[in-house]
Amino acid sequence: MSTGALTIDLDALAANWRALDSMTACETGAVVKADGYGLGAPRVARRLAQEGARRFFVAVAEEGAVLRRALGPEPEIYVFSGHMEGDGRKLAGAALIPMLNSIEQLARHLESLPGHAFGIQLDTGMNRLGFEWADWSEAAGIALDHDPLWLTSHLACADEPDHGMNSYQLDIFRQMTDGLGVPRSLSATGGILLGPDYHFDLTRPGIGLYGGHPFDAAQPVVRLDLPVVQCRNLMEGEVVGYGNAWQAERPSRIATVSGGYADGLLRALSGRATFYHGDTPCPLVGRVSMDLITVDITDLGTDPDFLTLLGPAQGVDALARVAGTIGYEVLTSLGSRYTRLDNSG
Ligand SMILES: *Cc1c(COP(=O)(O)O)cnc(C)c1O
Repeated sequence: MSTGALTIDLDALAANWRALDSMTACETGAVVKADGYGLGAPRVARRLAQEGARRFFVAVAEEGAVLRRALGPEPEIYVFSGHMEGDGRKLAGAALIPMLNSIEQLARHLESLPGHAFGIQLDTGMNRLGFEWADWSEAAGIALDHDPLWLTSHLACADEPDHGMNSYQLDIFRQMTDGLGVPRSLSATGGILLGPDYHFDLTRPGIGLYGGHPFDAAQPVVRLDLPVVQCRNLMEGEVVGYGNAWQAERPSRIATVSGGYADGLLRALSGRATFYHGDTPCPLVGRVSMDLITVDITDLGTDPDFLTLLGPAQGVDALARVAGTIGYEVLTSLGSRYTRLDNSG
């Protein structure tokens, strides 16, 4: 096999969902936008549905339609971007539930799909998606007349437990929704960890399911092994790769692995990341190129068949730190060339 192997531990994914579920007294949904954070929404969602998840969240209607084919008619599928111009047929055809974000979306929805279920997203200070308070005051009466399934909002700083924004948004959310008699959802992964005040009736974890920060107790879900294409000896003073970015300071053995920035292995990893052969670290040397990466295996003493970039020795967040980004970006960047393997029976 000449492409990298991305192995997805569906048992670990399921265990993470159960662990997050056990932290609350309410229902736990699952966010599978961006193709299940890069791991493949159909396989991820099917396993979580088996585990008991009944409500799934995606970013856009197109993702919802793909998910519906994978999950069959039973589970509820919610669309964060709401009801956008031209979404009507997709929402109706795949029985997707838009999370309406504005008076304009509410009007469009009630007009083009009367009687079709919806939820409402409220902006509590993040200023990204959802009804502003003034618009909600104006439209709440009409919306409530049509029985929204959920009132939701999203926390901007939940991965920083001590950030004042958390209690501020909680307070605003309560003021916008208390006493309306509609089920509520505020928290993603970070909010679950903030405690029961933040849980309401439904949580919407994403990154924690996939083993990422801020759910630091999560089981790792992904493993990425890149096959070695060839190995060569370098004399002291020889150079490696584009721009001659690395020079051997001793006689060295260099492995070239299959994978590069076209596979989401960010170019910012150049000269900084570490691969592993079992527990043995092997430094990435030179620049990450489109399809290939060079690794110093001098101290390994053997030519490996593959080298591991994500695995027991280095998780998604550790690799993200090396690239100066977050686990979310590492996961959702994982390209389409990998052979995706999982442990579903
Ligand atoms: C992405 C997203 C989530 C999931 O967030 P995580 O931090 O990955 O748990 C939940 N709700 C909304 C509105 C989102 O956009």
